[in-house]
Amino acid sequence: MSLPADFLFNQANLQDYVDCPRRFQLRHLLQLAWPAVAAEPADEYEAQVQDGEAFHRLVHQHVLGIIAAETPILPEAGPLADWWRAYLASPPADLPAMLLPEVTLSAPLAGYRLIAKYDLIAIEPDRRAIIVDWKTSARRPRPGWLSERMQTRVYRYLLVRAGTDLFPGLQPAQVEMIYWFANYPDQPERLPYDATQFEADGRLLTELVVEIAGRNEPIFPLTDDVTRCRFCTYRSLCGRGITAGDLDEADDQAAVPEEAAPDWTAGFDFEQIGEIVF
Ligand code: SF4
Repeated sequence: MSLPADFLFNQANLQDYVDCPRRFQLRHLLQLAWPAVAAEPADEYEAQVQDGEAFHRLVHQHVLGIIAAETPILPEAGPLADWWRAYLASPPADLPAMLLPEVTLSAPLAGYRLIAKYDLIAIEPDRRAIIVDWKTSARRPRPGWLSERMQTRVYRYLLVRAGTDLFPGLQPAQVEMIYWFANYPDQPERLPYDATQFEADGRLLTELVVEIAGRNEPIFPLTDDVTRCRFCTYRSLCGRGITAGDLDEADDQAAVPEEAAPDWTAGFDFEQIGEIVF
């Protein structure tokens, strides 16, 4: 099956492709639903996803001014309550005052469209644009790992390419991305940007889109890294085992988040997924 002309590339499907071309094919081209959980215990995994979704909704409403800091949050105990208190006590420091939550941007790329929905973009006109992404993963990823993720590369690149309505004349060096961790609110990861990285991201993303669009094998290559299969719902289909990986180990597995998230092109708002993320 070839790539539809209206296919939308985003950080999740590109990350799937980078992690495993076969997963990209099964999930985004064939849109094959497969009855398996991404991680065990399944109920705990589901609860984490739902808590993460709820946290994103709360913060969105707070940024919009719909709810105040004093608004009682139910339940009063548990991860969601802890994250909410952490957000109120230690939000990302030094953000510009103009806060734009849930912004969607897109731009043409190699004959297709690249799209991203941002948790928050904070703008200081003519000076800087800060991308904030809320993460509710249990563990903080090791320094440097996030800079290679498709999310980082797509978000910063696309803001420069498509954010000129928000920030006329925006230059790469004026962009920064902050990953804020609800379980580590005092240890955000700040990733500045520059023209060199912008050029590199443009090349990489273009090459990926061209490569994907040019594939026509009946079965795309399976990843050689079988550890990725532990948190992939297609593992039994691929003959890579039948048991899901342990949720306690999930944060170290790049495979979990995109695999767990529903498909953007199917109309589901995967950026609201709470992200067992890494
Ligand atoms: S089970 Fe492994 S080989 Fe199969 S799609 Fe998932 S990651 Fe790829």
